[in-house]
Amino acid sequence: MAEQKRDFYEVLGVSKTATDEELKKAYRKLAKKYHPDMNPGDKEAEAKFKEVNEAYEVLSDKDKRAKYDQFGHAGVDPNFGAGGYGGGGFDMGDIDLGDLFGSFFGGGFGGGGFGGQQRANAPQRGESLRANLTISFEEAAFGCKKEIELSRTEECQDCHGSGCQPGTTAEVCPDCRGAGVVRIQRGGGGFAFTSTAPCQRCRGTGKIIHSPCKSCGGAGVTRKKRRIEVNIPAGINEGQAISVRGQGNAGKNGGPSGDLIVGIRIKPSPIFQRDGSTVLYEQTVSFYQAAMGAELEIPTIDGKVKWNLPAGTQPGTTFRLKGKGIPTLQGRGRGDQYVTVKVKVPVNLNAEQKEALRAFGAAMGEAVGAAEEESGLKGFFDKHIKKK
Ligand SMILES: [Zn+2]
Ligand SMILES: [Zn+2]
Repeated sequence: MAEQKRDFYEVLGVSKTATDEELKKAYRKLAKKYHPDMNPGDKEAEAKFKEVNEAYEVLSDKDKRAKYDQFGHAGVDPNFGAGGYGGGGFDMGDIDLGDLFGSFFGGGFGGGGFGGQQRANAPQRGESLRANLTISFEEAAFGCKKEIELSRTEECQDCHGSGCQPGTTAEVCPDCRGAGVVRIQRGGGGFAFTSTAPCQRCRGTGKIIHSPCKSCGGAGVTRKKRRIEVNIPAGINEGQAISVRGQGNAGKNGGPSGDLIVGIRIKPSPIFQRDGSTVLYEQTVSFYQAAMGAELEIPTIDGKVKWNLPAGTQPGTTFRLKGKGIPTLQGRGRGDQYVTVKVKVPVNLNAEQKEALRAFGAAMGEAVGAAEEESGLKGFFDKHIKKK
């Protein structure tokens, strides 16, 4: 009878730290014992032989064994595509794990008739956990490592998820024969149909635990506080999220853990603004500097750089500092920094400064003094300044 997929180490009767030599020895012994030639017509032996072969195939392969240790059966299931996570785009949400594992188990569960409905005791992926992280403008630009503290469920270390006190095993539920669901006949007259409902006796788990594990009370999982290191890639932007695979809640019935999904918030910079990989910056210069040109120090996300303001720069002119922007996410290049020049017109001029400007105006061929008198502004501003 098909039942919950057994742990590969358990199948071979070795410890999780077994050496290659120990694995090989255990495999040879069992393969010989269950070999079809030694057990002609014995279906159970044939099934065991297959199970032993599958377990050995995975555990004898260094790569597959590592995946299995990390993700359980899901890690080595060819349908699962473990390791395909390319950053940001990982989403298992649409995949029905019940179906996935259903096909993995080769069907045949309880004689069919459940119509693809997910079994309550089928391996299930753990829930993903969500967290928010606020980082600085510069940390977002260059990437950083951050720790996130979270509380999650993990497989109980004492019972390894079985929920049974060590040394005991669960009984396969006699009502549903381990399926977790029972078939119910409904209707009457000329119409009778069959539907399924969760098994009441085992609450859909397919098993009955007589001595629950003392550490987890039979749940198979315990809650743990963990600090998880999260690598934030350079160039991350506000509102983007990072998936850290397998750091969510523990799976059920041997299913893989969920992910940790970290939403990114970026603190605004007092100096810079950002548009994708472009850094925007406003530099205020004096009227004199704009006219005459100046050697300035401009802040960039790399620190200050020397920059020459050309003589005769008009207000609102934008210059580009190539490659001084934000690194592009998952790319090699960097954006640019744009420097927009604001010109500060001098105010509250003293007598000496006004005289100098009049002289300047006259040199430019302007009607110096006339405009001030005509507009009547001169008197107003002079009084205003004196009051201060
Ligand atoms: Zn336990
Ligand atoms: Zn049951």
